[in-house]
Amino acid sequence: MAEITQTPMKGAVREAMEAQVGNEFHAAYLYLSMAGSFEVANFPGFAHWMRSQAKEEVEHATKFFDFLIERGESVQLPAIPAPTGSFRSPLDAFEQSLAHEKKVTAQINDIYAHAVRENDYPAQVLLHWYIEEQVEEEASASQIVERLRMAGDDPTALLMLDSEMKSR
Ligand code: MG
Repeated sequence: MAEITQTPMKGAVREAMEAQVGNEFHAAYLYLSMAGSFEVANFPGFAHWMRSQAKEEVEHATKFFDFLIERGESVQLPAIPAPTGSFRSPLDAFEQSLAHEKKVTAQINDIYAHAVRENDYPAQVLLHWYIEEQVEEEASASQIVERLRMAGDDPTALLMLDSEMKSR
């Protein structure tokens, strides 16, 4: 049972966080699906990167979930849409990942705006972690996009990059 002594959270930030649990799981789905496609395409390094990313997304989802529970809120988990993880090339996959992370950054910023409007200081503190995390997420995806652009269609360069990704 939820603690009745907790100060209840206000509507907008609570709802946005609950939705974000689903968004983070959706991201995990997307990356896991891409991991599978990379395995099939014989790029074990890119597959490893995507799989690690998927695990991180599950952690992001769980961190919001745990926070809501700790605040005494009951959580109604949203449906997770099927991933559209198909891509034409490693570059295409990482461009999609970067675009996805930018979308998540906007979602996190929106939740933060609600937390500020509703004077929810604990939520703001939690969200600082996510805001920093998004800077890292975008930086690491864009670094790979840049390097894949340099590699172009050169199979040797692609295989070298793939090999590097194994040690993420
Ligand atoms: Mg995330």
